[in-house]
Amino acid sequence: MATENRQKSDGCIEDNGNSRDIMDTPNRKRRVGEVTENIATPEKKTCSSNGRRVDLNKKRSDYLEWDEYFMAVAFLSAQRSKDPSSQVGACIVNSEKKIVGIGYNGMPNGCSDDKLPWSRTAEDRLDTKYPYVCHAELNAILNKNSSDVKGCTMYVALFPCNECAKLVIQSGIREIVFMSDKYRHTPEMTASRRLLDLAGVKYTQFVPKRKQITINFDAINPTVTNPLASIASP
Ligand SMILES: [Zn+2]
Repeated sequence: MATENRQKSDGCIEDNGNSRDIMDTPNRKRRVGEVTENIATPEKKTCSSNGRRVDLNKKRSDYLEWDEYFMAVAFLSAQRSKDPSSQVGACIVNSEKKIVGIGYNGMPNGCSDDKLPWSRTAEDRLDTKYPYVCHAELNAILNKNSSDVKGCTMYVALFPCNECAKLVIQSGIREIVFMSDKYRHTPEMTASRRLLDLAGVKYTQFVPKRKQITINFDAINPTVTNPLASIASP
């Protein structure tokens, strides 16, 4: 029919010049009497995301790469830690790029973290956190949701200490991707490298391309500051 407007394959309404009411979808057409026009022109199919303009007609280019993603999961997990001086997270990934274990440093299950010390130094070592706290690597391995972690890669914020190196080796993890090696010259880290080298566990420092990854809970909802976000559906 000559008076019908045709829906194009990209979801836009194609205008045939007819002047009747054609308010079928709010953002696509202006009403009768005015010159009808498509609102969703390619130029307007953009919106602001994290302060940047993006082209909604093209695949995103700033998505997280695998290493960034898994290291970010380790860092997010670290935010659960109650340790006032050191928050460390670990994320174990299998050969299919699936996460099979996450952990962060904290006191053992059932041991109230209000009744145990969090200090780094004290006259008596029993008044420091060290004899009690479980490292992120230990928790990630024990939290595994698969039968084992053989052949997996562990992403961890800090290079593992010697005790965690033992756990990594014995659990069959074959690779470590770490962020910081700030305790490199301590005996614990020296022993750790010695063990990992002997066992043939590969370890690589992660060098991030970006310094920050922001999680914005408001990003999923349209806001006043992002009016065009209400136009586009996912
Ligand atoms: Zn450790």
